[in-house]
Amino acid sequence: MEKDFKSMTTSLKEIQSLREQIEDHNYRYYILNDPIISDGEYDILFRALEKLEQNFPDLISSDSPTQRVGNIHLNSFGTLTHRTPMLSLANAMNREELEAFYNRIKKQWDDDSTFTFVGEPKLDGLGVEVIYENGHFIHGSTRGDGYTGEDISLNLRTIRAIPLVLRNHKLRPPKLLEVRGEVFISKLDFEKLNINREKNGDPPFANPRNAAAGSLRQLNPKVTANRPLSIFFYESGIIEGHSFDSHLKFLKALNEWGLPTNPYIEKCVGVNALIQYHEKMESIRNEIPYEIDGTVFKIDHYPIREILGTRSRSPRWAIAGKFQAQQATTIIHEIDVQVGRTGALTPVAKLEPVFVGGVTVTNATLHNQDEIDRKDIRVGDTVIIERAGDVIPKIVKVVTGKRKNNSSPFTIPKQCPVCKHEANRFGDDVVIRCTNVSCLAQLKGHIEHFVSKLALDIDGFGEKIVNQLVDKSIIKKIDDIFTLDIHTIANLDRMGEKSAKNLIESIADAKQTTFARFIYALGIRNVGEHISKVLEKHFLGDLSLFQHATQEELETIDEIGPIVAETVFQFWSDPENISMVNHCLELGISFEKIIVSNKQPLTGITFVFTGSFDQFTRTEAKGMVEQLGGKAAGSVSKKTNFVVAGPGAGSKRTKAESLNISIITEEEFLQMVESF
Ligand SMILES: [Zn+2]
Repeated sequence: MEKDFKSMTTSLKEIQSLREQIEDHNYRYYILNDPIISDGEYDILFRALEKLEQNFPDLISSDSPTQRVGNIHLNSFGTLTHRTPMLSLANAMNREELEAFYNRIKKQWDDDSTFTFVGEPKLDGLGVEVIYENGHFIHGSTRGDGYTGEDISLNLRTIRAIPLVLRNHKLRPPKLLEVRGEVFISKLDFEKLNINREKNGDPPFANPRNAAAGSLRQLNPKVTANRPLSIFFYESGIIEGHSFDSHLKFLKALNEWGLPTNPYIEKCVGVNALIQYHEKMESIRNEIPYEIDGTVFKIDHYPIREILGTRSRSPRWAIAGKFQAQQATTIIHEIDVQVGRTGALTPVAKLEPVFVGGVTVTNATLHNQDEIDRKDIRVGDTVIIERAGDVIPKIVKVVTGKRKNNSSPFTIPKQCPVCKHEANRFGDDVVIRCTNVSCLAQLKGHIEHFVSKLALDIDGFGEKIVNQLVDKSIIKKIDDIFTLDIHTIANLDRMGEKSAKNLIESIADAKQTTFARFIYALGIRNVGEHISKVLEKHFLGDLSLFQHATQEELETIDEIGPIVAETVFQFWSDPENISMVNHCLELGISFEKIIVSNKQPLTGITFVFTGSFDQFTRTEAKGMVEQLGGKAAGSVSKKTNFVVAGPGAGSKRTKAESLNISIITEEEFLQMVESF
């Protein structure tokens, strides 16, 4: 077929304009910190570009914003050599060492007004180097041993704060730019990430640094793309085609090119300015939205840097000022054992309250028996605890000198503290678990998970209701949810006739669901939202096929490994589970038909439905959206792309208007869906 060159040219212009707009919004967001459009509007621009590029694949270029996430799954990382080594910095552990550093440099000059420093917070993230040629992202690597790092280009490309093309407005990008920075995850994003991981049965990350490191070292860039990574740039490697005489000027140029730098960077003149900057950063470290563990001071003037030179492992013109570790000494009064949704018994130390890192700490997790044994932690011990930013405090060590004579090692009882059923360790799992499927501690967690947004999404089924239903023995097994009646619910605390009726309706609505949601709702260990969808695709929504699949068959499915296969198989080997699932089906749980479709044109697009509709129920609408790869959410936020509003739409519509989110009618929605 001959190409339609005329429309291709028009589209090319449109594509270029969209790319520029998107890059401009990135610049406003990451550099100016002053976005002028909502995330939803940004997504619409992005989708428009994607659609055009789909129609004209010849016009796709590798540095289009749509091409951040590649389809390549690596088996291992290659290595890249840093042309100038990424040296580490010497540390100043306290004020005296910082002064000594300053005085060493001062000795070489008569007049200390001739040199100034640039102070910056030291991010607790992962150092990387990114290389641009003629303004285009070429590749990027980890710091590694300072001389060679791993080639993580594909993963770095997925980070939106890293431009694929440098801005070329006031200042032309140089022929070659090697630029170093720190990749990090903000404290808030870290918490959200861990909540999601725990929901999906994945182990939580210990701290934001580990989360960032783990995310950057994924062999599948799609996984990295879903992690909330960001970056600040702070140092150069080799630059060709441009020269700077000062670090501050270099940082300013980075911003000009669209590369974000830390907003707390300041010029410091004189030794007192260094000390003050350090003390200021230390005092506000808990208010800063990402983890910092110190400050860095560098000579601003590059010619002076050259004169000072470099030792074998670190430059003489820079130093890292370390913060005091956020540690405190306290006493363990008790060790409690808590039971989680998966039946895991977690030991928690109850501490004498102590103020550390900006908050009062009363608990510290002891993780598991191995951890307790390794550190020999006992009730009554005096311990040193440490807290890094918002991370759950941990016990660094026991002050054994203060141990009481009559203390004895602590062993987690082999009995569930809630149901008194036997608890055990399985295989090489370090965790002890309660094996009782009807354990109350687990039942509450199971129900909360079962009704949660990504599972059956039963509106109004909150924690307080779950607690009452379980405590009053109204619900003894999951499937009891579907035999609840208005009268029973209306008699609960804080429930009336009307809210009871609403809840019963929500429960009835939720019965028509999808295979993937139901499987996810079952809370099988290691089977999160994504794996549920993988299983749905494979078994085409046939529960019986899924139930009778052998471990070997499960393992042949793409993305299903031996661990998932084993836990799934174990789940179906338990007659209690089979009877629970069968009972749910008898009580009306049904799945929408799975239509095999490779088309996922709505990937990344979120809809909210509000008001009443003639041609579909909310569940049906949700199904349509999900079938096409999109998401249907319950409430309007900045992440919403479209609000589908029928008659009677109220506050959600108002909120959408205030956020400038597109509001469409039932008809427009159907037209959109049918157009794919
Ligand atoms: Zn139990």
